[in-house]
Amino acid sequence: MGWEEGMRRAAELLSSSSYAVALTGAGVSTESGIPDFRSPGGLWSKYDPSEFATLSSFLKDPSRFYRAASEFLSVFTAEPNEGHRALAQLEEMGILKAVITQNIDGLHQAAGSREVVELHGNLRECKCLSCGRISPIEVLVTKLVQEGEIPPLCDACGGILKPNVIFFGEQLPREALERAFELAGRCDLLLVAGSSLAVSPANFLPPMAVEKGAHLLIVNEEITPMDAFASVVVRGKTGRVLPELVRRVRALKKN
Ligand code: NAD
Repeated sequence: MGWEEGMRRAAELLSSSSYAVALTGAGVSTESGIPDFRSPGGLWSKYDPSEFATLSSFLKDPSRFYRAASEFLSVFTAEPNEGHRALAQLEEMGILKAVITQNIDGLHQAAGSREVVELHGNLRECKCLSCGRISPIEVLVTKLVQEGEIPPLCDACGGILKPNVIFFGEQLPREALERAFELAGRCDLLLVAGSSLAVSPANFLPPMAVEKGAHLLIVNEEITPMDAFASVVVRGKTGRVLPELVRRVRALKKN
């Protein structure tokens, strides 16, 4: 299917869907200046995930994590892009019921999406690994940046503070996971945008949706393992493709 044919079919499927859900990954935020993991030049080309983003490596040497974490500071100043805004518009139009995201950057909410399920936690908060207290991320940033406290420690118990994001080797938040599976089982269209679909259990959601009879629509720059099962695959940047889809869906809805 060529690009034009793919876009036409994708817009038709979206406009006739009655319960569409999106699943997004780091790719929707690269155009906001936040590097993804697996693209060329992504973070995995600089850091070995087994040394950097596992819970055991964090616990072994939190200081190393915090020294490398400067790479992630762009997350705090990033702004949503046209792709995030397009998904918020699809929700506003009553087509998209929720966005399930693997991202921790909060940009879907900043763009106006209301129903966002964060599978991998978020960077708005930090959590004490000893007493479990959750505080705003500013508490951690102040200790780290202004006071040079590495690793930053909990005011209540002296335990190590960690951003409230899920590292490899950690359990995903149960409530978010349950909600994501419920949405994937219920939707009649799953729109995957900007994800390599290489990370579990997020990548269990597309096969589940397909098995339950939903259309799978994939918008990604590179191939994914689920392309063969998709009703439509559109290759391209989410910041360009998603707004164009919204424009076409609006036109179809008018007729
Ligand atoms: P990934 O890095 O594995 O895959 C990103 C995919 O997006 C790639 O296939 C790439 O080709 C594609 N892509 C990149 N830019 C794109 C664009 N502008 N338009 C369309 N496609 C684009 O990311 P993933 O699947 O989300 O899984 C990796 C993990 O990365 C997740 O667990 C997530 O928590 C974490 N992560 C999050 C952020 C963030 O919050 N912004 C940033 C980096 C990593």
